[in-house]
Amino acid sequence: MKKEDCIFCKIINKEIPSTIVYEDDEVIAFEDINPIAPVHVLIIPKEHIEMVTELNEENSKFLPKIYLVANKIAEIKGIKEKGFRIIVNCGEDGGQEVHHIHFHLIGGKKLPVNVL
Ligand code: 5GP
Ligand code: ZN
Repeated sequence: MKKEDCIFCKIINKEIPSTIVYEDDEVIAFEDINPIAPVHVLIIPKEHIEMVTELNEENSKFLPKIYLVANKIAEIKGIKEKGFRIIVNCGEDGGQEVHHIHFHLIGGKKLPVNVL
């Protein structure tokens, strides 16, 4: 998929609206439009990388930032103490619908063993 057609690139470029909870020059985080828990935020790199299998030595330097941002958001949302889950779906069998790599930060309730 070309990045011109990518819904998350459009969110990054503010071409479509979203509720942004964190942004810097490397990553952006916004509320999932269809939350499955009281807290459901998507954290994504600004670079259009389609999925986990597209990661390589050069384009993966943002990865630690994802977890630091997740911590920050968990603190802001008040779920740092109780915990949360970070999920990355990859490809068809992984249930990935949007082909711009994203990290689901989910929490605010006791999560079932099988979620997403
Ligand atoms: P996936 O199934 O690819 O891992 O997750 C894609 C996620 O993106 C879903 O949880 C879905 O609700 C969310 N999503 C899809 N389109 C939009 C959108 O236009 N805006 C926002 N904020 N979230 C979206
Ligand atoms: Zn994209």
